[in-house]
Amino acid sequence: MIFENTLAFAQQLDKQDILAHFRDRFYMPHHNKKPVIYLCGNSLGLQPKSAQVAVQQEFDDWAKLGVEGHFQAKNPWKFYHHFLTEKAAKVVGAKPSEVVIMNNLTANLHLMMVSFYRPSAKRYKIMMEVSAFPSDQYAMETQAKFHGFNPEEAIIELKPRKGEYTLRTEDIIAKIHEHKDELAIVMMGGVNYYTGQAFDMARIAKSAHEVGAMAGFDLAHAAGNLQLQLHDWDVDFAVWCTYKYLNSGPGGTSGVFVHERHANKPELNRFAGWWGHNEEERFLMKKGFKPMEGAAGWQLSNAQVFPMAIHKASLEMFDEAGIENLRKKSETLTGYLEFILNEINSAYKTRDEGQNSKFKIITPSDAKDRGCQLSIIVSENGKKLFDYLYENNVWPDWREPDVIRMSPVPMYNSFEDVFRIGEIIKQYYK
Ligand SMILES: *Cc1c(COP(=O)(O)O)cnc(C)c1O
Repeated sequence: MIFENTLAFAQQLDKQDILAHFRDRFYMPHHNKKPVIYLCGNSLGLQPKSAQVAVQQEFDDWAKLGVEGHFQAKNPWKFYHHFLTEKAAKVVGAKPSEVVIMNNLTANLHLMMVSFYRPSAKRYKIMMEVSAFPSDQYAMETQAKFHGFNPEEAIIELKPRKGEYTLRTEDIIAKIHEHKDELAIVMMGGVNYYTGQAFDMARIAKSAHEVGAMAGFDLAHAAGNLQLQLHDWDVDFAVWCTYKYLNSGPGGTSGVFVHERHANKPELNRFAGWWGHNEEERFLMKKGFKPMEGAAGWQLSNAQVFPMAIHKASLEMFDEAGIENLRKKSETLTGYLEFILNEINSAYKTRDEGQNSKFKIITPSDAKDRGCQLSIIVSENGKKLFDYLYENNVWPDWREPDVIRMSPVPMYNSFEDVFRIGEIIKQYYK
């Protein structure tokens, strides 16, 4: 698409946008008594108006029914997980039996590592991207220690080439083959939280399998953002949170994918709880754990109905919008932001005869290598630009040491939002 940096053009794109009406179904935060241009959907997605209604339903049933709500609530609590799996599976490109919603992200990552990181003296290494999200770093460090390994030796970090910010797939593949005899697992983000780079999960999983290793992904920044195909990509496991692109509330519940090929392996080591036990005899209180087939067999506890009610409401909107439609809009929306930022930058380059650009976008420019987010390193005093944007009702987020992250989200951001971001940045540099 040929973009134009004009209000009329942005408004024309909004008019053609089949998803535009979803914006009104969210609460937009206000600042200086005006709605903000919210670009933090990669950190905490906005509140769907339907979330309160969904939670109120459970409050009402709890008040009216007490413990009987497990069976008699409108959405019986005993089966609450079941209401989420089908729609969550669509969002990540999986079969319903491969998905379960439970716990929180980092807890789930550890549970998956219990099953899929089974190191031996020779094959014990974990490969991950350098500067992964801290929780993932700490999880991998302590997993290595738990099995008696020195994390310094056990963890292989994938680093960009000198002078580059993002990883090249061919370098990831080469590294996997370089460590072919000692690699136990590749565990990395689906989209890196800092650079916004989306990784080629299918190729990474394939290479890991070629050398006899497992492949797991943390999809915190990918779920609800990319069009995922976890089943077809042959990923062993994945975990994600629901409060970022999936708009399911602060600290909300989390999702787990376990590939069908591991669905029925009771011998797979796991840390179990009663909710993973065969549903037919869960309440017989018998000795001896018999896991359910599929991802459900990794459940520990009975349903967290309140966060799950929010997630249910949000998943209904994803189902209605369609992840393919969201992704299609997202590519154009983020492409439009990139176009506007580049135009502002090149105006200054021309003025300084190419000497100075004001900022650099470190996120890959090819749509297939990124999701919504663009990460920007500002040449001079990035925090000052960030503060200016914030005061002027544009809310990106700031990540130490020096990145401004902007994520226009197809569910509730508009092309006009993106146009206005450009106008405010121009005003700052005037
Ligand atoms: C947001 C995020 C987390 C957060 O973990 P919680 O357990 O939900 O607190 C972990 N890992 C990655 C990659 C993230 O982006």
